[in-house]
Amino acid sequence: MPMAVNQFLEYAHFGGKIVPFAEANVSVATLALQYGLSVFGGIRGYHADDGSINIFRLREHFTRFSRSAGLLKIALPGDLEYLMDATVELTRRNAPGSDCYYRPFAFKSDLSLGPSIGHPGGAFTVYMLPLGNYFGGEPRGLRMQVSSWRRVADTQIPARGKIGGAYVNSAIAKDEAVINGYDDAIMLNELGKVAEASAANLFIVRDGVLITPGITSDVLEGITRRSVMELAEDLGIPVKERDIDRSELYIADEVFVCGTAAQVAPVDQIDQRHIGDPTQPITTRLREHFEAVVRGRVPSRADWLTRVEIGALVGAD
Ligand code: PMP
Repeated sequence: MPMAVNQFLEYAHFGGKIVPFAEANVSVATLALQYGLSVFGGIRGYHADDGSINIFRLREHFTRFSRSAGLLKIALPGDLEYLMDATVELTRRNAPGSDCYYRPFAFKSDLSLGPSIGHPGGAFTVYMLPLGNYFGGEPRGLRMQVSSWRRVADTQIPARGKIGGAYVNSAIAKDEAVINGYDDAIMLNELGKVAEASAANLFIVRDGVLITPGITSDVLEGITRRSVMELAEDLGIPVKERDIDRSELYIADEVFVCGTAAQVAPVDQIDQRHIGDPTQPITTRLREHFEAVVRGRVPSRADWLTRVEIGALVGAD
């Protein structure tokens, strides 16, 4: 099911200052638009009962964002602190009343004709939208299809960073899966091993062990993936990073995908085969632990959240 169309929140950070979202625009000749020379992030802010927003793993997201920008030689306007401060400031200005999603975006703003990452010019923006359940409606097990499209290889476009142009690969796979009546695609890499879903990393459970492809398998270096592995440690669940064969998807006890938008989303069926254990005990434990962490109910993981108090700063500017 496609992500619901969202209303963007009122303000964006653009060109070093906060402007109305409608004013955060670029030229049609921008290299980013012409050739996909852009990098982006996706970060969640969780709304707390007291009105504050807890931003999940802000530093880790901007660390990957900076590395992605480096892959395309895109100059950022400042260091990690700058990027994080801009995001916190924007949160205060937008004062979201629900869970929200941040889209930081950096791009080649140059208007040169030819496709080269060597062109100068880098621009940075971050904007926000409200976001509930990515897959729409009530949480339920996903129906997935192994895609006929392969995950883009590191020898072509690095999948480990969030590179704008590479998302043609995700978009084309997602569309095929949805047209065929599924929720999403599972993509194999060029070696025929399982890589990931169109916008989420993938885990399987076999005989009590949590397994996910390693970061040299043409997958995005997902922040939620890394977090789930750490949460599994909290719960004493053994974790292994290794290649996964397609046929293991069909005989796995449990399968789930995870990502900032997807969170921890159990998979019910793959290619119309039901996944082994319908009660999904390990996925359920991880999901509940993840939910408790993002809601600020796990003191030992409180450092994963950047708390932004909205009310306290009203009138500050
Ligand atoms: N893989 C792809 C291709 C993605 O687009 C995403 C979403 N960012 C993920 C995995 C999950 O990454 P993260 O947990 O950092 O959001």
